[in-house]
Amino acid sequence: MDGEASVFVQDAAAPRRPEAERQAALRDPGFGRVFTDHMATLRYTPDRGWHDGRIEAAAPLSLHPAAMALQYAQLVFEGMKAYGLPDGGAALFRPAENARRMQRSAARMGIEPVPEALFLEGVRSLVRADRDWIPRQEGASLYLRPFLMGTDPSFAVRPGRDYMFCVIASPAAPIFGSTTKPLTLWISDTLTRAAPGGTGAAKCAGSYGASLQAVAEAGREGCDQAIFLDAVERRWIEELGGMNIMFVFADGSLRTPPLGGTILPGVTRDSLLILARDMGLTVREEPYAIDQWQEDARSGRLTEAFACGTAAVVAPVGQVRGRRHEFAIGGGQAGQVTERLRTALIEIQRGRAPDPHGWVDRL
Ligand code: PMP
Repeated sequence: MDGEASVFVQDAAAPRRPEAERQAALRDPGFGRVFTDHMATLRYTPDRGWHDGRIEAAAPLSLHPAAMALQYAQLVFEGMKAYGLPDGGAALFRPAENARRMQRSAARMGIEPVPEALFLEGVRSLVRADRDWIPRQEGASLYLRPFLMGTDPSFAVRPGRDYMFCVIASPAAPIFGSTTKPLTLWISDTLTRAAPGGTGAAKCAGSYGASLQAVAEAGREGCDQAIFLDAVERRWIEELGGMNIMFVFADGSLRTPPLGGTILPGVTRDSLLILARDMGLTVREEPYAIDQWQEDARSGRLTEAFACGTAAVVAPVGQVRGRRHEFAIGGGQAGQVTERLRTALIEIQRGRAPDPHGWVDRL
């Protein structure tokens, strides 16, 4: 869309960090620590609809202290990435999936949804303005955080009136480092993340706030991440705080918990299921019980397990611990199926392999 008028008007006077500072940040970006020079913003009011789109200097927001987002967590967000391509260009990966997921999350939270075209234009305009912030080293990318929140001041517990859509960006190294060292998971059997009829399938701020105690508990137990069970029977494996989970069996089949409203429908999850089918694997979206997982890992029926999501892509699981469980998977190494799927996805995302499903969205 270069050359066409954009809804998001760029503030040419927005300051840019000096070249040396940007280069230093890009050499060792970490995850979510450094932010780019710009942000995209767009406002909604009932009388004007969506308006006032800008690409402006990334800076603290001015928000009324009674804003719905602050008082009642009326806020939904997305996580996606811009990838450097071998020819020096850049691409997004299936960005329309993020746009639609944000619309579904917004509906669940009584928020005015951002039209898909505006979501995409906001994200693309920001990446174009900050394209020098896309790290080019292996495994690194520009993490994008679109979010949408209620801004009108009110103590009334009812949906807000005015909204702000915002996109910020942060150069990111691979989240668990550049190696694929297997994760140790802590089974959260007392704290749950999502209940039937609740907000587990929505990417809303409150769900993440509510997961932090379990994440902290996992850390105290010496584990990398918490894994959540269903809230009713405390038996069925659901997902991690920010990643879906998949299991590989000795018979070559792949299994993952079904999307039933309590699990976030991951774009990575969906993409890997498609790639696995392309590879000829049998794929099952079926519930899997925590006791069965332990039994299958011990008997050797289960050979691999991995977590998947935009930030970490594919992260093998090596150990699982909880108050009632303790088992290892696959001798502490990333398994072959995990590696094949991971490589297949990464090569497509980075424009180094054919893109048979049309997932790569070149900027
Ligand atoms: N589950 C949860 C709870 C998440 O926050 C995420 C990250 N968005 C995922 C799964 C993975 O989703 P995606 O592959 O779209 O990043």
